[in-house]
Parts: sequence; C-alpha cells; structure tokens
Amino acid sequence: VVSFKTNTEEPALLLNGHLDVVPAKPEDFRPYQKDNRIYGRGSGDMKAACAVMIEIMKKMASEERPPSLGLMLTTDEEIGGFNGVGYLVETRGYRPELALIPDGGRNLATLAVNEKGVLHLKLKAFGKAAHGSRPFLGENAVDKLIGTYQELRKFIPQLREQKWQNTMNLGKIQGGEATNKVPDYAEMDLDIRFVGKEDKDKILRQVREVTSDFEILAQGPPFVQDENDHFIKDYQRIAEEVLGQELSLYRSEGASDARFFSEVGVPVISTKINCDNIHAEREWVDIDSMERFYDIVLAFVRSFSSNGAEKNPK
Ligand SMILES: [Zn+2]
Repeated sequence: VVSFKTNTEEPALLLNGHLDVVPAKPEDFRPYQKDNRIYGRGSGDMKAACAVMIEIMKKMASEERPPSLGLMLTTDEEIGGFNGVGYLVETRGYRPELALIPDGGRNLATLAVNEKGVLHLKLKAFGKAAHGSRPFLGENAVDKLIGTYQELRKFIPQLREQKWQNTMNLGKIQGGEATNKVPDYAEMDLDIRFVGKEDKDKILRQVREVTSDFEILAQGPPFVQDENDHFIKDYQRIAEEVLGQELSLYRSEGASDARFFSEVGVPVISTKINCDNIHAEREWVDIDSMERFYDIVLAFVRSFSSNGAEKNPK
C-alpha cells in the first residue's frame, strides 16, 4: 500500500486492485497486442486497471500539492481476498472515505452496486440403523435430511431463470451404505448466495427452525452499495462526461474484494475497463478504454480533492 500522506491507513481516496490471476495455459502468459487490444491472462482481470492506477499515482505524485490518495495492490483476490484486502481492512484498519475498485461491472459504462454474499452449510441428519426389510424398526437419516431440505426450499425457492434473489444449490449429498440397510447418518452441503446485508442472519434463523444439526463451512458478506451516495453520483457524472454515454447500474452473482470495504461502511466505486474472456481463454482488454479510464479517474481525483474531501491536509 502506498499513499502520499503519513497517515497511510486513511487516505481520503483509496485505489484498489489485485495482481493475482486464475490459472491458465503457459501461452496465455505471453501477452500480445492485436486490434487495439492486449491479450493475455490477467489483462482484463485486472492488470490493465492496476497499470492505470499506478499511472494516476505517478501523475499525482508530481503535483505540487498531491491529494490524499492511496493505492492498495493485493495478490489473493481470486482465492477469497482474506489475507489481502480482508486483512488490511479488518485487522490493519484501513478506512478510506471512499474506495475505487475497477473489478466489477461489465465495462466503463457500468457501475457495480451489488454482489451476492455467500453461505456454505453442511446439514446433518442422524437416524437409527435397521435391516432394509424392516424399515419400521429403524429411523432413516436420508429421509430425514430430504425432509429438512424440502423445508428449506420453501424459504429459498429454486430459480429457473436469472433473477436478483437469494439462491440455494445442493452441491453434495452423502448417506447410506447398502440398498438393504436403513441409513443412520446422512449429510449434505448447501451453497447459499444472498442479496442483502441482513439476509445471512435471516437464513440462519430459518435453518435453525428446521434443524439444529448443521455447521457453517464458509461465509462472506455481500457487497451492497447505495447508488445515491454522493461519491457514486459524482463519479457517475464525471464518467458520463468523459464517455459521452450514460452509466448503468450492475448487479453480479460473483464476489470481489469490494465486500470487505462495504462491510465496514466504506463506499465503493466498482467498475471495469472494457474487456472480455475473463477467467477463460484469450482474455483481452481494450487499450482505448484504458485511456478513457485514466481520464475518468484523473478528473475524479481532481474533483474529489478540490471538493474538500481531503482528509489529512498538509
Ligand atoms: Zn478480479
């Protein structure tokens, strides 16, 4: 993390990006330029954006009175971000007034304002073993577990199409040893994705209504950004001026490091330089769009610091 002010933990505006990438074939690590695009693993997600933010820092460092601005680059976003942004925000206490994370939305004309939270649960059911020919003497754990699952489905119904709602996927189920045996144990793993900040507690209450035999395997908060926040409105206005195009709001099923800032109440501007094939073959980023992003961020940083948002003036 670099910042122009001595109080590194609290730059007014923090630019954030991650340098790690998802695995790829060796040739994908040999970038090349074609048709005004840079191809290669990590080009769109999100080294191009990091390069632009480094250029912004260099530009601002050369100013006579540099603004309260910081740059945070981490290397574990693709595996959860817990030891990167998670650690820096939760343990080290980084609290900017605003974070800009160009790792959400579809392109520069979109602002991501919502990403789902995640809750992974293991449900267990216990029964009583018996011979399959005399099921009335036992208690079938698999039957019990199916019953619990069906009760939970009433709270989180199956979605047949993409909608901005909570979802639940039954990812794994295990139970029983032989066809002619009444199983005395069964378990299932559920992958629940939720929209709102209060949804996790609500879902856990609903689970407790139907069973007390469960454990939380993993959890992460959602990213929820108020679209009427004045920082968001300012950024939107400036980006629309530079692009000559209206920005649209974007909601995403996936998670990003934005959630760590969102959870401690720091507003996040989340957008993306025009790119495609992220996490796939022939990932690319658009070079013109990198320049547009530079123009937007530069204009935004200037208006941000001249609006008196500067936190630690020298
Ligand atoms: Zn990313």
